[in-house]
Amino acid sequence: MNEKKSVSVTLEHVTKRFKDVKGKSDVIAVNDSNLVIQPGELVTLLGPSGCGKTTTLRMIAGFELPSEGKIFIGNEEVTMLPPNKRDTATMFQSYGLFPHMTVFDNVAYGLKLRKVPVEEIKVRVEETLAMVGLADYGDRAPSKLSGGQQQRVALARSLIVAPSVLLLDEPLSNLDALLREQMRVEIRKIQKTLGITAVYVTHDRVEAMSLSDRVVVMKNGFVRQIGAPSEIYEAPNSRFVAGFVGKATFFPVKVKNHDGKLWTCILGDKEVVASQAGENVAVGDEAVLMARPESLRVVEPGKGHIEGTVRMNVYLGNSLEAFINTSFGEVLVQIDDPHAKKVYPEGAKISIDFAPDRVRLLENNED
Ligand code: ATP
Repeated sequence: MNEKKSVSVTLEHVTKRFKDVKGKSDVIAVNDSNLVIQPGELVTLLGPSGCGKTTTLRMIAGFELPSEGKIFIGNEEVTMLPPNKRDTATMFQSYGLFPHMTVFDNVAYGLKLRKVPVEEIKVRVEETLAMVGLADYGDRAPSKLSGGQQQRVALARSLIVAPSVLLLDEPLSNLDALLREQMRVEIRKIQKTLGITAVYVTHDRVEAMSLSDRVVVMKNGFVRQIGAPSEIYEAPNSRFVAGFVGKATFFPVKVKNHDGKLWTCILGDKEVVASQAGENVAVGDEAVLMARPESLRVVEPGKGHIEGTVRMNVYLGNSLEAFINTSFGEVLVQIDDPHAKKVYPEGAKISIDFAPDRVRLLENNED
């Protein structure tokens, strides 16, 4: 149904300032943001509450105008255009369905506004409802649908106008965990099938990681890192990104040597080797060694790099998380096979071993 060519979305030095409630000092919601979203790409804006995700999305949609900078959809500059002059459709967290209209009429609404002929509307609504798995629900009232079904109607309503860019603002946060997972997969399938460019706002890292071609991690209005999910998880450029996109333990180390390939650092009275480091790390620095739970191994006492005691084992079905007390604080280790004979019980003295190619040196700052 979408015969258009996919388009890119570009933000050039986009800043958005709001006055505070007294109209005095400025809140900088988005600070000099630069972003190129490729045609057909699904990019997620991820970050803690208040970091500027929604404001960025609203500027792409035209509900907010930038204080500085330019926005392009394809080659067309849209910075100051109103929402209805942009080729975008936005799906919000609240479904915003019209309760007095049937599902069919809700979905048809955008086409009626555009004065599309009745026959064409019928065909397109039926096509779109089938796409979201609601072929037989056209006559229902929205109140007679489950939350997940209402969300599908909202998605159909956004898609039917065949926008070049689909903007989604936490669209699944009102759904329970299972439905969220199902809808996530469906949104991704539909977006790929249509080849539509999509921007998705969430503060849920699992959602961002599982849905996106690339993730934009934001904090305090700044873009902190842009990369494929595997890139931001495995090669975060800061402690903030590392901690926000996944579980990690940060060990304080002193960087002793770099031989061009491997970094040697001092952790307590032991040497630990890392094969990766963030851009600004240098020999002589006090840095942190970032270890994901799956990058560490629990071994017999004395056989690893640091000693500890198992405080708690948490069974997760396909793996187990061991919380280990050490002199560097609590360390989280993932044990892949919870049924293996060698699971150390709570209270056991153990040692933790680092896999050099799986740990990463980062600057020691909270940012
Ligand atoms: P959340 O996940 O909580 O929705 P967010 O990352 O989407 O957060 P934004 O809604 O973009 O964040 O807000 C960014 C900053 O801009 C916040 O400090 C917010 O208080 C401020 N802000 C947003 N909209 C306005 C407004 N209309 N007037 C004043 N300040 C605003």
